[in-house]
This record gives sequence, C-alpha cells and structure tokens, in this order.
Amino acid sequence: MYSSSSNPLASMASFRMEGRMLRYSVFIPKLYNLCKSLGCEAGKIMPSRAFCSDESQGYPIILIAKHFNAFPFDHGRVGGVVATGRHGPYAEHGQDLVIIQASHVGYNRETKSFGTYRRLQTQEQGLTSSCGKVDSVLSWYEAEYRFARENVLVSRENGRWIIIIDNQLLNQERDEGLYLHLDRLIATDDQGRMNPVRAYSTSKCFHASPDLARQLDQDAPARDVREPLGSRLLPEWYRFSKNIEGDMEGGGQLAMNLAPVAPWVLASKSPLLTAAKVNTQVEFDRAYRSIVRDPSYRNKRVLFIAGLNIDISPDRGQLFPLTKFIPWAAYLQQPNAEHRNLEQEELFSKLAAQSEDNPDQTDLENAIRLMSEAEEVRIPSD
Ligand SMILES: [Zn+2]
Repeated sequence: MYSSSSNPLASMASFRMEGRMLRYSVFIPKLYNLCKSLGCEAGKIMPSRAFCSDESQGYPIILIAKHFNAFPFDHGRVGGVVATGRHGPYAEHGQDLVIIQASHVGYNRETKSFGTYRRLQTQEQGLTSSCGKVDSVLSWYEAEYRFARENVLVSRENGRWIIIIDNQLLNQERDEGLYLHLDRLIATDDQGRMNPVRAYSTSKCFHASPDLARQLDQDAPARDVREPLGSRLLPEWYRFSKNIEGDMEGGGQLAMNLAPVAPWVLASKSPLLTAAKVNTQVEFDRAYRSIVRDPSYRNKRVLFIAGLNIDISPDRGQLFPLTKFIPWAAYLQQPNAEHRNLEQEELFSKLAAQSEDNPDQTDLENAIRLMSEAEEVRIPSD
C-alpha cells in the first residue's frame, strides 16, 4: 500500500472523511440491507469483526448482533489488525460472510480534536489516548523525532546557512533509529563529499544544502544564532529504521503497517487519526489478498469492508461512545468466484442508498428474556 516509490501524502489524502461518516446506528442496518441486495440470504449471514480490543468492541458489536441476528466472529487483533490466520474456522460458520475491519481513533467533542477518549470506568474518568495501542507504537518514533528536532541546529555564518548535526545522527552504523537523508541537508563538494566546516566534541558543522537553505530562507531567524531545526525538519528529509518484534499479526503487524510512513504521520495535525487511517488502508490491502488466496472462502459469498471508527466520548448518562464509521473500501466475492473491489466513493454511495429500516433485526432484550426463561438443560458431569 505504502512504499518509498510513491508520495505517501497523496495516498493519505485519498481517504476522505468529509461527508463520508455514518453513525453506527445507521451504518449497520444499511450494511445489512446492502448485503441482502448483493445476494446474502437472511438467517444465513455470519458477521465478523476485526476491531481493536477496547471501545470499538461494545456498541458496534451489539448493533451487529442485533441487525445480523448473530453474534459476530472475532477476527481482530489489538490496533485493528485482521487475524488472517482465523479465516478457516470463520468461513465454516456461515454461508454468506461479512467481515468488518476498523481501526479507530477517539474524538473529543469539547476541544474538537482527535486522539483522546474519556474512560468513564476509570477512577478519574480522565481522557486518555485512543487508540492506545497505536499511541504506544508511535511513541518510539516520536522520541526519535524529538531528539532529531532538538539536536539538528541551524544558523547563519557569514551570510551562509550552516547545519550542526549531533554525532549520533551522523552515525549510519546504528541498528535502529532516525536516519537523516544527509545528501539532502548538507552541501557537497565537486566530488560529492560532505566536508565538515568544523568538528565539535559531540557534533559536526556543515554548509547547508541549497534545498535546505531555500527552506530556511522562508523562515529565517532574526539573528545569526543557532536554533534547533524543530518543526522545519520535513518528513522527506529522514527515515526510520526499527527492529520490529512481536507476533506478526499482533503489535508487530501494526508497527510494520505504520513504519514506512511514520515521518508523515508525525508531521500531520492529528497523528493518531492519520495513523488509524493508514492502518485501515494497509490492512484492507493485506487482508483482501489473504481472503482471495484462502481456499476456505471458495464458493462462498464474501463482503469484506474496511473503514475507520471514530469514538466520540460518552456524555454524562451515556453508556456507550457515539461511534461513527467512515468506509474506505470493500471486497465483494460471489459464490461463482466473481469478485471485485469497491473504492470509497462507490462504497459510500451504495451504503447511502440503502434503507435504515431492517425488518429482520432482533429485539435483543426479548432474546435475552427468552433465553433466561427457557427450560434449563441439565448437563451430566463425567
Ligand atoms: Zn485501540
């Protein structure tokens, strides 16, 4: 999905949010009706969800169970990663299969900002980061980025821009860390060599490249004093390298999804929102290929839909978040093996065109009452 050969900003911008949000109470009945319009048979549909472990789980899952008349299979790993190793057992559970993947991000309605969620069940009922797993994956990149912002200095000397770089950032032999694209930041001589103007005890000073000098001229410091490069360190000027550990479909997969675009994620206005959108895009691309390949889906009708859950913190008196869903893409496969992808525009239009009424939905309270009133089945012990 993301590679070094294409501009990540263009791919990120393709995920539209404006005018594409659906409340879960509207999204799920519309999705159910869409499934029926695609040939799914009432009572034969097995839903599945690939959600993060936290606030995504409650309200959306209750609505899925209510409208699809079946409790959804669990296809999700923390952070909204699809457990592709569970395709086999899942595919056995139904004739028509509907998988909903969603990464998620919190939203604070008071500050109108993304990335936090009020957890009513904590003692302080405080705001904490959401998605917490995405936040923990990003924290390593943030620390490296902060160090580079503070330890790359720029100044003007005799009317020419110079750049002073900490020796740690000049060391290309490190196992992992933030690696500056030095050839874009430092002026080279006729032979392409980067010659230090002088060396200090823990850093070296170079003439700035024409590219960097041009950028700095747009935002020149008032005096010829050394200043940290700070937020002027552009994503195009560095990359990260990190040894990613952990099981590949747990935190490791999430880290792998975010690693190639971490500089752009950190430079965005709302890194947790940007990261959640990127994860949805990468997971759709990865998981749809696994569905196409997996023999357990042969002769089955499959709708795999990926999107973003926005969790709006509950207000006083509300039990659940007001979760909204933004569809990104879907994969549709018919039992005769016909298959195709639906891009965001087409997918949203198809959902929007569906009715919000679902005459097949279950009265969950009644279903719970019937279960509690049913005659008990006594199970003999061995
Ligand atoms: Zn989460």
